[in-house]
Amino acid sequence: MGPKQAWRVLTLVIMLLTAVSTVVLISLGYDAYPVLFLALVTVLVYFYVLYKRYHVEVVPGSDIMLFDDPDDLRILAGIYGLDGKGDTEELRARLIAFARSNKEKAFTWVAPRAVVAFGSVFELADGATPCTELQRPSAKNLVGGRTRSPSRRANIRACPVCDAAVESSGSICAECGADIEFYTVLSESKVGKRLISRKNVAVRRKLRYDVPTLGEDR
Ligand SMILES: [Zn+2]
Repeated sequence: MGPKQAWRVLTLVIMLLTAVSTVVLISLGYDAYPVLFLALVTVLVYFYVLYKRYHVEVVPGSDIMLFDDPDDLRILAGIYGLDGKGDTEELRARLIAFARSNKEKAFTWVAPRAVVAFGSVFELADGATPCTELQRPSAKNLVGGRTRSPSRRANIRACPVCDAAVESSGSICAECGADIEFYTVLSESKVGKRLISRKNVAVRRKLRYDVPTLGEDR
């Protein structure tokens, strides 16, 4: 069962529960208006969170080739609900297969494992293509086919991954080693935001003994 179907099942269950509790509360003698208002708010919040968090961009195969940090690939696999085991090549092949099976779409539904398990075990529409088939970009470009620009880079004041203050030139964060412009562009997408917030946790764990404070001079 795919995430979309799993969400359908869960949504149906939540709507039924909301309807049943509304009816029960009203029949118990509670005022109808506050109860209906509460039900409406519950439904709106549910759909808001659903769209906001679990309807994310499909990162195309060519962009997946741009990630050279195995942690990024693992986090991305986690966001898409894929198996996060294996080495860099295996993770990349899995993500590329996912990108290909969703290549018609700009956005896809993702779901936490618990949601998918609600229906059945999540199975990837496989065809794990070895990524050697894909052309590797010669120089690390930016996601979304965007090119690097000195003016964009000059406007970035803090590392998007670790929040350390960065100088207006140089492409790599001195603190955590992240490619500053690459991750800034990535962070403009929903999936990028999620990836970076998880990467941020991992990076901070690594830098535990030397976490820079925001705006610190260096
Ligand atoms: Zn950094």
